[in-house]
Amino acid sequence: MNDILPEETPVWRYLEETVTRVLAGYGYEEIRLPIVEKTELFKRSIGEVTDIVEKEMYTFEDRNGDSLTLRPEGTAGCVRAMLEHGRVGNRQAQRVWYRGPMFRHERPQKGRYRQFHQVGIEVFGLEGPDVDAELILMTARLWRQLGLADAVTLQLNSLGSVASRAAYREILVEYLQTHYETLDEDSRRRLLTNPLRVLDSKNPAMQALIEAAPRLMEHLDAESRAHFDGLCAILDAVGVRYEINTRLVRGLDYYGRTVFEWVTDRLGAQGTVCAGGRYDGLVEQLGGKPTPAVGFAMGLERLTALIDPAAVPMERFRPHAYLVSVGEGTEIAAQVLADRLREALPELRLLMNCGGGNFKAQMKRADRSGAPLALILGEDEVARGVAGVKPLRDGGEQATVSQDALVADLAEWLRSQP
Ligand code: ATP
Ligand code: MG
Repeated sequence: MNDILPEETPVWRYLEETVTRVLAGYGYEEIRLPIVEKTELFKRSIGEVTDIVEKEMYTFEDRNGDSLTLRPEGTAGCVRAMLEHGRVGNRQAQRVWYRGPMFRHERPQKGRYRQFHQVGIEVFGLEGPDVDAELILMTARLWRQLGLADAVTLQLNSLGSVASRAAYREILVEYLQTHYETLDEDSRRRLLTNPLRVLDSKNPAMQALIEAAPRLMEHLDAESRAHFDGLCAILDAVGVRYEINTRLVRGLDYYGRTVFEWVTDRLGAQGTVCAGGRYDGLVEQLGGKPTPAVGFAMGLERLTALIDPAAVPMERFRPHAYLVSVGEGTEIAAQVLADRLREALPELRLLMNCGGGNFKAQMKRADRSGAPLALILGEDEVARGVAGVKPLRDGGEQATVSQDALVADLAEWLRSQP
């Protein structure tokens, strides 16, 4: 579980602000959800035989004896909320997004943490490939805006219908049984409980076997095939490149038909930055009317690691000005001036010198603050009702302006500032 320190937050805010803007551009609405849910909810939705439910959840008993769990992902809670508030099953499409921390007791390693952050997007009530395409096009646009278009590639697969998965399951079990001696312990267990999960194994020793396994894509039902072709046709028309990865099954049980992952080769082993797919059965499984749904989540730690720090507009997160005050009575005058500036210029980011100090010490702090301007009040300035204005970055001359003019000058200058 990481602390995100002040020098790291600008890249987080840049990412979050860009995401917020792109999602708004597609008409998605924000929903805010609790961090704990009943344990049962995750067991019923994610699946009992998944890494998450088997060994990664932070589960505890509350004072009433209810079993609660820190959310390991957002979809289950989002579906729970949509059901609880009667937002699904009434034919009206819903497009929502949320963000926040998720918790999984994984083995800590680069790119894999026990508290991590996701932005999740879910759409309810739309079954066609058009909305699957919308989600993918939206993420492709986000990568372009973040300068990540060259860093990520799209992998696509279809898991077909429940019936075609059941038929494929038998074919897969037969194959796995003939290679029983190669299976690791987890896979042997899953062979009986949830054989498709074997394809999601991260064990390097299993990869050759998985690679050679029969492919679900070749056993798709006709409707899922048409759905998948429909998605590919839109992506082709708009010019989004993708690779079909028939081994992509995702780590959660509720997916069917479209699944996708955006992956990068720049982060070592943990290369998936965004993943999701269609989960048409989940709403009904959790007690609602049958409602098609599709969604994805992106991992913010991995995305912040990919973003080029030079692309982050750091100026937006720095103060515009640092107010220096030296001499008898100048601190109070500085408070009055600062208050006046803040009142007139709500967008001004003004850092006040607090704690005194001589001129040199205060100017040093001004410099360290990153502000492009120092505003200076000495006894003489206060007496004359003026202020010194010193550019700190590009070496301009210090000017003296009346405090009345300062408001207008700063307002003008702020228009040119990020
Ligand atoms: P994996 O197969 O890598 O374990 P998953 O199937 O468990 O992934 P999802 O639950 O779909 O992953 O999560 C979506 C995204 O959230 C991932 O692609 C990743 O970017 C991020 N993510 C998942 N788990 C972690 C973690 N422990 N630490 C950091 N980011 C994570
Ligand atoms: Mg996982």
